[in-house]
Amino acid sequence: SKAAGRNQLTFFEANMQAAAIRRLKLLAELRRALPDGQLELCFQPIVDLATGQVAKAEALLRWRNAAGALLAPDSFIDVAEESGLIHEIGDWVFRTAADHAKRWSHLLGRDFQVSINKSPVQFQRQPDGTDWVAYLEGIDLGARCINVEITEGLLLNLSDTVLSRLAALQASGMQVSIDDFGTGYSSMSYLKRLDIDYLKIDQSFIKELEHDNFSRTITDTIIVMAHKLGLKVIAEGVETAGQRDCLLQSGCDFAQGFLFSRPLPADQFEALLRR
Ligand code: C2E
Ligand code: CA
Ligand code: CA
Ligand code: CA
Repeated sequence: SKAAGRNQLTFFEANMQAAAIRRLKLLAELRRALPDGQLELCFQPIVDLATGQVAKAEALLRWRNAAGALLAPDSFIDVAEESGLIHEIGDWVFRTAADHAKRWSHLLGRDFQVSINKSPVQFQRQPDGTDWVAYLEGIDLGARCINVEITEGLLLNLSDTVLSRLAALQASGMQVSIDDFGTGYSSMSYLKRLDIDYLKIDQSFIKELEHDNFSRTITDTIIVMAHKLGLKVIAEGVETAGQRDCLLQSGCDFAQGFLFSRPLPADQFEALLRR
C-alpha cells in the first residue's frame, strides 16, 4: 500500500542518515589519528620459501582509536581516501616503514626490504607531497629497501600523471609489486610497459590451492609466466603446510601468511628477526 511504501522510504532514509552520521564521526576521529599518534604499523614477514627464512616484510596499517580499539584498514581506508587524509597518512606510512627498513637493515647487516601499500588515490595528488626520494637520502637508506605495492586497478586507465609518477618511483630504485594479482580486470599488457619487480598472487587462489584444480592451475601459470618475464612471485594468505608445499613444488619464490606469522607490532617483529 501507499502508507507501507512511505514507511519503507522513511526507514531507508533513516538508515542512510545513520550511515552518513557514522561516517562523519569516523572522519572527525580519523582527522585526529595522525596528530594524536594513534596510527601504528604492523609488519608481516615475507618468507623465502626455499630457505624458510624471513626475507622481507609488508607494513600494514592499524589505527588504535581514542576508545582503545585496534582498527584494520578496511574499516577506515575508504574514508581516508574520500577525504584526502590518505595523502598525509600515506606519507607517514612511507616514512615509518623506511625508518624500520633502515633499522632492520642495520641490525641484519644486509638490505632489508619493507613493502608499503599505495592506493590509486595516492597517485592522484597534485603536486606530490613528501619527497620520498629525498627522505630516503636523508636517512641514507637505499631505495631498493622500499617496495611499493600497487593494484591492477591503478593500471586499468593509466593516465600520463600516474604513468610518470610510477616511472619516477621506479627510476629512484624503489621496487614495485602488483598486489592481489589475478583479481583485476586489466589486460596484462602493462607488464610490458612497466618495470614491475614482483607479482603477489591473491589469497583467493591460495585458499583453494590444495583442493581446487582451477586455483592450482592459475597459480602455477602465474609463477611460470612471472619467471619467464624475470619477475619474482609472492604468495599471499598462506595458512597451511599443504599450501606451502604446493607453492614450493611450483617454484614460488616467497610466501606470506598466518602459517608463518600474523602481522606483528614492530617490537615483536624485531624479536622474530633476532631469533
Ligand atoms: P593487502 O595489501 O592485500 O594485505 C593483506 C591482508 O591480508 C592484510 O590485511 C593481512 O593482515 C591479511 N593476511 C595476511 N596473511 C593472511 C592469511 O594467512 N590469511 C588471511 N585470511 N589473511 C591474511 P589487513 O592488514 O587488514 O589489510 C587489508 C588491506 O588494507 C590491505 O590488503 C591493503 O590493501 C590495505 N592497507 C593496509 N595497509 C595500508 C596502508 O598503509 N595504506 C593503504 N593505502 N592501504 C593499506
Ligand atoms: Ca599488500
Ligand atoms: Ca624495478
Ligand atoms: Ca594482497
